[in-house]
Amino acid sequence: MRIIRAAREMNIESVAIYHDIDKEAPFVQYADYAYKISGTTPKAAYLDIPQIIEVAIRSNSEAIHPGYGFLSENSVFSSEVSKAGLVFIGPDANSIELMGNKTRARQLMTAAGVPIVPGTKEQIESDEELIKTAEEIGYPILLKAAAGGGGKGMRKVDSVDELIESYRGAKREAANAFGDDAIYIEKYIINPKHIEIQIIADAHSNYVHLGERDCSIQRRHQKVIEESPSTILDEELRTKMGEVAVKAAKACNYVNAGTVEFLVDKNKNFYFLEMNTRLQVEHPVTEMATGIDLVKEQFKIAFGMPLSFKQEDVRFTNHAIECRIYAEDPFNNFLPDTGKITHLRRPCGNGVRVDSGIDEGSEVTIHFDPMLSKLIVWGRDRNEALGRMESALRNYRIQGVRTIIPFLIAVMQHPEFRYGYFDTGFIQHTFDMDVLDKIKEEQEEIIAAIAAFGFRMTRKDQSPVSEKQKISKWKENNLLMRRLL
Ligand code: ADP
Ligand code: ADP
Ligand code: MG
Repeated sequence: MRIIRAAREMNIESVAIYHDIDKEAPFVQYADYAYKISGTTPKAAYLDIPQIIEVAIRSNSEAIHPGYGFLSENSVFSSEVSKAGLVFIGPDANSIELMGNKTRARQLMTAAGVPIVPGTKEQIESDEELIKTAEEIGYPILLKAAAGGGGKGMRKVDSVDELIESYRGAKREAANAFGDDAIYIEKYIINPKHIEIQIIADAHSNYVHLGERDCSIQRRHQKVIEESPSTILDEELRTKMGEVAVKAAKACNYVNAGTVEFLVDKNKNFYFLEMNTRLQVEHPVTEMATGIDLVKEQFKIAFGMPLSFKQEDVRFTNHAIECRIYAEDPFNNFLPDTGKITHLRRPCGNGVRVDSGIDEGSEVTIHFDPMLSKLIVWGRDRNEALGRMESALRNYRIQGVRTIIPFLIAVMQHPEFRYGYFDTGFIQHTFDMDVLDKIKEEQEEIIAAIAAFGFRMTRKDQSPVSEKQKISKWKENNLLMRRLL
């Protein structure tokens, strides 16, 4: 949906591909043309490179945008697209290859003078080496999959007692998820911030960074809330990290939009984590903070046009926040939920953007990531953005599947989050899950009350009630929500 929108604004026709399971999906309806592809599972279809290229040729397409899942970080796809005489809207195979493997990327970054998280730059070959190296680095350590992504294949290890078992577990998980069981070690950074820098480069060696995104609010090492600017960066650190991110991009001859991820420790030391060689899920945060449409820039770059702005033209005018709306049960350890969307109402208004993949009637299945949509708000400062986000979340209604919206509202109200005192441990350690238990109890109470007395509440002290005196539905819902929190 995001890519088609940008194309349409530029008068470029779009061709969607879809597996049968998605035949009613909004993106299929929205694209100018849609071609069905087949596969034993939806995943198999969307990863089928020859079939996708065949459709591109059959539909007379000129270019392919890989989106941000599936084949978006696949070097073979990038090179096959180019070989077929089509334009790949993203970096070339070599850049993806260099950054796709974390140990190789760590070697490259070290050579380029980019600080990396302390640890190994090669995969671990034996149990003896594992024990020895972990000891040298010092516990706690993090075992990580060289081919890793999506938070998978990662194990924190606190002492040698758990080491071998965790290593075997991480190896198994990595083999399953990526078909590559190479594991390496990083020092486990205590209470870090996840800060990433958006970069963009054209084919004429112009490199620009578009500031940071703070993506520290995570569960299972996966992002939930992102914002820009970060509460911990000042102009000086932003410039420094931006320059290092550009250095990282230059080291792999990067062209197009990409992200350099860092961990920042309590003393504001920053360490290269990885580079995502694609447009990221959370790119709207940067778009709303800077006013630059990243997807349109991606199109222009792919067709050889130079960047239309220089570093000094980039202005960070707004504070932007994104909440990922996951179909997960926040009351039950963020367990993914499935079902049919029976009712949907999206928030709107000044400074509110919804990037969504669903409609009323959509079926949420186990075949894809449980992310339904992204709610992005922006304001002149963080306070305005926070208030706007809370209000927008309260106006967002999704029925038929459980979502994390109640949890997100609670985070917007959380004192530590509001003050900016949070790190990647926020959900696990800072956020009090008892608050959620309380919400759950009261929600059940209210649902029962609504069932017993009818939905519409009226002021108790005024009877008979005239139309005018009725509490508006918005107020009623918000009174309920206030009681909940
Ligand atoms: P971000 O850094 O933007 O949060 P992630 O690394 O979590 O992105 O991945 C974004 C999406 O791409 C997720 O939905 C994830 O499941 C999907 N994804 C990542 N790597 C792969 C891969 N190798 N194959 C298929 N899908 C992938
Ligand atoms: P992925 O490829 O799955 O996105 P990353 O290397 O980007 O993996 O790490 C994802 C998240 O895991 C980080 O944002 C951070 O919260 C946590 N993490 C990764 N490496 C470390 C580390 N060395 N110390 C502490 N936390 C880490
Ligand atoms: Mg990452």
